[in-house]
Amino acid sequence: MKPVLLIALGGNALIRSGEEGTVQEQFANLRNPAVQMARLARDWRLVITHGNGPQVGNLLLQQECCAKAPKLPLELLVAQTQGQIGYMIESTLDEELTRLGEHRHLVSLISYIVVEKDDPAFADPTKPIGPVLSEEEAKSAPYPVRRTPKGPRRVVASPRPVTVVEREEIRILLENDFIVVCCGGGGIPVIRRGRAFQGVDAIIDKDLASARLAEEIGIDLLLIATDVEGASLSFGAPEEKLLRTVRVEEVERYLKEGHFAPGSMGPKVEAAVQFVRSGGKRALITSVDAIEAAVAGEAGTEVVP
Ligand code: ADP
Ligand code: MG
Repeated sequence: MKPVLLIALGGNALIRSGEEGTVQEQFANLRNPAVQMARLARDWRLVITHGNGPQVGNLLLQQECCAKAPKLPLELLVAQTQGQIGYMIESTLDEELTRLGEHRHLVSLISYIVVEKDDPAFADPTKPIGPVLSEEEAKSAPYPVRRTPKGPRRVVASPRPVTVVEREEIRILLENDFIVVCCGGGGIPVIRRGRAFQGVDAIIDKDLASARLAEEIGIDLLLIATDVEGASLSFGAPEEKLLRTVRVEEVERYLKEGHFAPGSMGPKVEAAVQFVRSGGKRALITSVDAIEAAVAGEAGTEVVP
């Protein structure tokens, strides 16, 4: 059996900074990771997760613009983006696999992730979503709002992922060499109500969700693809230094020292640490343009035991 590689695609795999985010741009941007993933599929079984920030932002904007249609809660918007982005990844990757003469079954899975109903994040929502609000809108908003560097925005809770509801389905699909796209946007956050689940207004960090999934299904390599070369010390300062291969204890110390911003590089490093701490041999944080190079050990930040 080929080893399993989990690739977590960041937002820039679809929309690059400065772009409007049209559908054409998103399909064009996906070509580059898709070409690399198709080649990697020769030697690895693949599971792909992805972000959904700008896409959920646009859906929220569409809701704000149209008062006639009933508003949808966040959990349904996350479900919608799992569908739309899953379709885009799957169809682009399928084309590239076909080009290589590789035949694979692909599936995009609507996935839920259980969170604790008393997670402290619910009492202190910090994750900004949707459009920047005017002062008027911010005052009368029916949801919590916080000031961000861009202006006031809606904030939601970002609870810790506890378990991926479809972990068994994902494992079985991988065993059969399906390429699985799942846990999009960090998964649909749900809480348990006896044997049932109930969606909640929250956004789970997609990197932490990916680390949880990795632990639960047992994978060989975790790769987080983003818009920088890797994790750096003193990011943005003149003495900035890209970390290449780094031991887990060492990078944990940097994490505590605050080198990695919360909500962006922080959860990526945390996910890498969590994966290696739970028995993983290697976790990579790299640019979406250098996915193959990072797997080959030639790019990115590599966290090792
Ligand atoms: P993604 O959509 O891939 O999750 P994020 O914007 O959440 O992307 O995270 C990547 C960003 O993290 C980079 O663009 C960079 O600006 C920021 N960042 C914060 N701290 C660091 C650091 N120490 N090293 C590298 N990048 C960092
Ligand atoms: Mg992010």
